[in-house]
Amino acid sequence: MKAVVFHDIGDIRLDEVPEPTIQEPNDAIVRITASAICGTNLHMICGTMAGMQPGTILGHEAVGVVEEIGPNVRNLKRGDRVVVPSTIACGYCSYCRAGYYAQCDTVVPNGTAFFGGPKESGPFDGLQAEYARAPFANVGLVKLPDGVEDDKAIMRSDIS
Ligand SMILES: [Zn+2]
Ligand SMILES: [Zn+2]
Repeated sequence: MKAVVFHDIGDIRLDEVPEPTIQEPNDAIVRITASAICGTNLHMICGTMAGMQPGTILGHEAVGVVEEIGPNVRNLKRGDRVVVPSTIACGYCSYCRAGYYAQCDTVVPNGTAFFGGPKESGPFDGLQAEYARAPFANVGLVKLPDGVEDDKAIMRSDIS
């Protein structure tokens, strides 16, 4: 598949990379139908966010269609349209239960887990790609009503 890949500061390329696979029981694979470029992506180009690992797929804002789910994902099914939020959270730690998903203490203790970020954020491959693996998909992915178009729904992914 095609994906936007970080190689080095100022060296971002559209590469051919392997498609993601289910790795954990709460994963989903999402076929991305819309993806955005965020101001945060400028850090990867300018080198103002330390710890980026070469080979990381960039992007943390997307809308897509669920293609595959892990065995523990019971609230989604193949074909569901979803918003993929930028942060990744477990849903069951004390911070998540209080609604502070960006402070989740399970995925990255003492940090924020998000797509397409530096080592300290996971790292997790991002969403500027044809397909993405969404960890804790049962918590993060938000189902979309048919009437909401991709280019409107994507505004809910990060900046809302
Ligand atoms: Zn963003
Ligand atoms: Zn959590």
